[in-house]
Amino acid sequence: MTRVDRQAWDVVVVGAGGAGLRAAIEAREQGLRCAVICKSLFGKAHTVMAEGGIAASMGNVNSNDDWQVHFRDTMRGGKFLNNWRMAELHAQEAPDRVWELETWGAVFDRTPDGRISQRNFGGHEYPRLAHVGDRTGLELIRTLQQKIVSLQQEDEREYGDYEARLKVFQECTVTRVLKAPSKSGSAAGGRVSGVFGYERESGRFFVLEAPSVVLATGGIGKSFKVTSNSWEYTGDGHALALLAGARLINMEFVQFHPTGMVWPPSVKGILVTESVRGDGGVLRNSDGKRFMFDYVPDVFKEKYAESEAEGDRWYTDPDHNRRPPELLPRDEVARAINAEVKAGRGSPHGGVFLDVSTRMSAEAIQRKLPSMHHQFKELADVDITAEPMEVGPTCHYVMGGVEVDPDTAAAVGVPGLFAAGEVAGGMHGSNRLGGNSLSDLLVFGRRAGLHAARYAAAFATGAAPAVAEADIELAEAEALRPFGAEAAGNASGGVAENPYTLHQELQQAMGDLVGIIRRASEMEEALHRLAGLRARARRAGVEGHRQFNPGWHLALDLRNMLLVSECVARAALEREESRGGHTRDDHPGMDRRWRRVNLVCRLADESAEPAAADSVLGLIRLERLETPPIRGDLLELFEKEELRKYLTDEELTS
Ligand code: FAD
Repeated sequence: MTRVDRQAWDVVVVGAGGAGLRAAIEAREQGLRCAVICKSLFGKAHTVMAEGGIAASMGNVNSNDDWQVHFRDTMRGGKFLNNWRMAELHAQEAPDRVWELETWGAVFDRTPDGRISQRNFGGHEYPRLAHVGDRTGLELIRTLQQKIVSLQQEDEREYGDYEARLKVFQECTVTRVLKAPSKSGSAAGGRVSGVFGYERESGRFFVLEAPSVVLATGGIGKSFKVTSNSWEYTGDGHALALLAGARLINMEFVQFHPTGMVWPPSVKGILVTESVRGDGGVLRNSDGKRFMFDYVPDVFKEKYAESEAEGDRWYTDPDHNRRPPELLPRDEVARAINAEVKAGRGSPHGGVFLDVSTRMSAEAIQRKLPSMHHQFKELADVDITAEPMEVGPTCHYVMGGVEVDPDTAAAVGVPGLFAAGEVAGGMHGSNRLGGNSLSDLLVFGRRAGLHAARYAAAFATGAAPAVAEADIELAEAEALRPFGAEAAGNASGGVAENPYTLHQELQQAMGDLVGIIRRASEMEEALHRLAGLRARARRAGVEGHRQFNPGWHLALDLRNMLLVSECVARAALEREESRGGHTRDDHPGMDRRWRRVNLVCRLADESAEPAAADSVLGLIRLERLETPPIRGDLLELFEKEELRKYLTDEELTS
């Protein structure tokens, strides 16, 4: 066994995006010692890429807004499958989290009278997104980093050590959450005891011992071919949770953002922010038609403009007009674009046209959408102040994730494990509204940090669950496998597999067979292909050594992407209806009976089912879990007529 560095902390946060940093700040402010680990450089989390803004009902631009309206919009966006308690806490606490950011130094765009400005976004009834141009995520992360530095300066003054109570381990990847062995009579058995990981540059292994681990690792987009997500989004936290015994819910719901770049091929999938539509951009097909008016579903008919004239008036007089259908929730717009392209009315490179140049002055576009202007000029040689963009759907966000207790963010079934941000499930139901992720990170990041700290503080000194040496050895052996004999193909007589080839095949299979429009036969085919890829991934081999070796890193990430992809495919095959980010060609309608059903994924017990790993039966087992009834006072926020579209008669009368 090689030497494994070990350190002890109270709380370990895996991930340094918005959720991870907010959790770490909270744990440290509770007086606990907190370590943060991130795969890339500190400050380069996915959150940095967020453009449009943070949704919070501060009512600065329209005073009719309040948390109840935000709650209603969130539930409608998620087609009522949301964990209603999470949606309630989120809507109630988001404004405080934004104001708090301001007190920590965030510089938001302002209204003419000096308040934090708020912009329109799809599915939000009022202008609600606090923003900084189209670089909101950057400001959010900058502010949280600044807060962390200020806490470290306090510690330096108190302890003579900046990192006494808050330390960031950057460019380190966690590959296992460790648990104390389940011994009879031991209260600590089965509880979280720390994490195992490696430094990406040196390849050295390390263990951080801690009674509380917060997963804040973001999403899964790198399992799909066309995605807005960066290299880090390989579903690590989802897989770490499964492997630790936690459950994932709602994994069939994957958000395909309607507007990604489609040309040139090297940038296909890069996001075109929804702010473009929020600020007046319109979608047209190759006939020049504003086609979204043809795609307003019945459940939203009363809330959206019926004519272009009404939609246009809404931008200046929102109290007397309805919003244009370009601002429908993302799932609706993505499906509409897909249908237009399929019907032969797409743009030359397989998207549709998004035009803001005829709606805003060049000066306003450059001021409000500076990143978009720069992005299209640099990457596609398109000047969006003068010509339309070509856009099409791109895999963007996963609604599914770790099943958590809504109030504490504790992962169900694994004491000491917490999850917040995109890696957690439930909050967004079947479809997330734009802007609701950044607010989610702050609200539930804080809650996760708070409760992880409380949980850790309850252990007397020296009584925290212990890490077992045997588990460290297993984690080490697993991490070294790509260098080993089996991987090289010697032991099995097979051929070593190239991790990059496997990754490409996985992305192709998920994009083609479990993408934006799904059907049973294709998802069955996907499960077959995943079984083959799983078997081949065991032989994923790399050359060289452990010092910065991206092929090795990818070989390890493959385990996570394959597990997560299997969850998505299995759950998508099981859910025989269309809802939010899950569209079935063979089951096109939304079925009210399915609203009460959460599909729950857990890892199969391999010792009991040893053949599972390489067979189509796979590693994931699926269960149906009935969702708890929505609390009466929250239901009263909706018209009965509207509820009838989502709830069964039985639920309505009970
Ligand atoms: P992230 O910010 O991705 O952070 C994940 C962290 O986990 C990273 O530090 C990563 O290094 C680390 N990590 C992952 N795996 C491991 C591992 N195994 N070991 C150690 N560390 C690990 N949402 C909005 O609400 N408004 C917007 O305007 C908006 N715009 C967006 C624009 C783009 C281009 C994209 C891609 C997304 C956008 N979103 C937006 C969505 C939102 O940005 C993300 O959902 C959110 O930032 C996720 O935050 P997080 O803290 O959960 O994860």
